[in-house]
Amino acid sequence: MKKNVWNILYLTPPHVLRYCKKCGKKTEFFSSGLFRVNAQRKYLDIWLIYKCNCCETTWNATVSSRVTPQSVPSGLLEKYTNNDRDLAEKYAMNIDFLHKNGAEIVLPDYRIDGDCLQDQKVQLLEIKNQFPLPVKLSAIIRKKLNLSQKQYLNVIESEKIRSALPLDLHKYKLKDSIILEIHDYPFCDKTHSEP
Ligand SMILES: [Zn+2]
Repeated sequence: MKKNVWNILYLTPPHVLRYCKKCGKKTEFFSSGLFRVNAQRKYLDIWLIYKCNCCETTWNATVSSRVTPQSVPSGLLEKYTNNDRDLAEKYAMNIDFLHKNGAEIVLPDYRIDGDCLQDQKVQLLEIKNQFPLPVKLSAIIRKKLNLSQKQYLNVIESEKIRSALPLDLHKYKLKDSIILEIHDYPFCDKTHSEP
């Protein structure tokens, strides 16, 4: 059976919705990609710095609080102090990290790279989410296959898209990956007639 693979590529890390004192309202904060490391007595505090979209007021998201320098693996501390790009991205893309910091998350735009579905009776589709942001499966499929909400409901209800696991495909949000079975593609839609 042919297996198609789609990859979700995010255009930016998620933004964070916070009250900005200077702006006097809730605004979106974005990761600056910069860490702040503060040494006090025997302990270190490490933050990832966010900035308000409008005024550049900063907000520090806690990476580590009151840890001993010895407890930070060798090489890692330099990555924080050198603002290692990959490491900053890893934090900024990490939903658990953002939730632990009490952040309200604004999911970023994304594009979907991958194979076009084949004109086939049955095929598999794997959707890979390298940074497991909780994007709705329905949004991804509708975007890539150009389906309306109603058309998506139709293909789910007629089980033309199905999962081996008992998931609610209306509401399901992506984790790291999912494999779906696609039947009777291209989907015929009764509301459209063939040209
Ligand atoms: Zn502001």
